[in-house]
Amino acid sequence: MKVAVVKETAPAERRVALVPDAVAKLRSAGHEVLVQTGAGAGAFLPDESYSEAGATVVPAEQLAVADSGQAVLGMFAPLTDPQLAKRLASTGATALSLDLIPRTLSRAQPMDALTSQANIAGYKAALVAAAAFGRFFPLLITAAGTARPAKVLVLGTGVAGLQAIGTARRLGAVVSAYDVRPETKTEVQSLGATFIELTSVGPAGGEGGYARALTDAERAAQQAELADHIARHDVVITTAQVPGRRPPLLVTSEALKSMAPGSVLVDMGASTLGGNVEGSAPGETIVADNGITIIGADNLPSTMAAAASAMYARNISSLLLYMVKDGQFTVDLADELVAAVVIAQDGKVVHPALATSAAE
Ligand code: NAD
Repeated sequence: MKVAVVKETAPAERRVALVPDAVAKLRSAGHEVLVQTGAGAGAFLPDESYSEAGATVVPAEQLAVADSGQAVLGMFAPLTDPQLAKRLASTGATALSLDLIPRTLSRAQPMDALTSQANIAGYKAALVAAAAFGRFFPLLITAAGTARPAKVLVLGTGVAGLQAIGTARRLGAVVSAYDVRPETKTEVQSLGATFIELTSVGPAGGEGGYARALTDAERAAQQAELADHIARHDVVITTAQVPGRRPPLLVTSEALKSMAPGSVLVDMGASTLGGNVEGSAPGETIVADNGITIIGADNLPSTMAAAASAMYARNISSLLLYMVKDGQFTVDLADELVAAVVIAQDGKVVHPALATSAAE
C-alpha cells in the first residue's frame, strides 16, 4: 500500500493527517509513505522528521503516484456537507470519512477521530474562556483581597463538554452542566460538577448515543428555562450538536441580555448555519453592548495542532492498518465498521445516510 499525506488547505487549518510516529508504524508494516513538502509545518513537524521516520517528502505534483484503486480518507462531514461527498464521488476514488466511525463498536475506538478531536476542543474551550474572563477561575485568598471562584456552565455534556468540565474544575471553577441526555448526569457528577435538570424538557436521547433534534415547543421551553440558569453564571461553554443538523440554539438574545457585564460565552457549535449562542460567528469574538464576550470557537483542535495531529494520526493509521488485507488496502463492505465510513465509491455517493441529501 502507498500512502500519501497532503498538506491541509482549509483556512487556518494547522493539523496534519500523519505524524512521524504514525509514518514509522506504517513503514514497519511494510507500506510506502509519501508526504507533501511542508505538510507538518503547522503542527511544528519539519520535513526532516518525516524523512527520518522513513517517508519520502515530495512536492504536491509528485504525490499522485498511488496505485489505481485510490482511496481518500479524512473528516468530510458528509451529513452537513453533501456537496463535498458528491465532488469526492466524481473523482472515482473511494472516499472514507472518519466522522462516521460507529462509536459504539469497541474495535473502532482507536479510529474514533470525533472523540479524539472533541477531547482537545473541550479542553481548549475552557482555557479560551478562562483567558477571556477578566476574573479568576479559582477561589483566591490574598492579602489584597479574596476572589470568589468563577461559576461556569457547560451546555452539552458529550465528549467535548465533559472535557471542558474537567478542565474548568482543574482551574478551580464551580461548574454546572446540562444535557438533554440525562444518562450523562453521573459522568458530570463524577467530575465534581452539578447536573442541572430542566423540568420543561424530557429526555431526548436519539440513535447511537446521540441526541435527537427537539420539537419547536421543546426547544422554546428549553431556551426559556435555561435562561434563568445562564443569568446566574459568569462563563458559559456550549458544545451541543445533533448529527447532520444545525447546532441547537440554547442561548437566546433574551438570555444574553440577562448576563452580567464581563460574562464570557464560548460557543463550540458556532457555524455558518448558526450556533448554540444567538449571534455567535465562527472564528469571531464579539463584545456585546452589555459587556459580554461571545467567542465563536469553530476549530479549536487546529489551535492545538501538535496534540491534535498526533491523536488524529493514530486514528487514521489504525483505520488504514485495519483495512489492509494481504498487504492490500481492501474495502470490505461486509464489515460494518468499513461500510459505515465509505461515503463514495465507483463514482457514486454510496452511504445510505447520504442517499436523500445527495440525490438531487
Ligand atoms: P455530540 O458532539 O453529537 O453532541 C454534544 C452533546 O450535545 C451531546 O451530549 C448531546 O446530547 C448534546 N445535545 C444535543 N442537543 C442538545 C440540546 N438541545 N440541549 C442540550 N444538549 C444537547 O456528542 P458527542 O460528544 O460526539 O457524543 C455523543 C455520544 O457518543 C455520547 O453518548 C458519547 O458517550 C458517545 N460516545 C461513545 C463512544 C464509545 O462508545 N466508544 C465514544 C465516543 C462517544
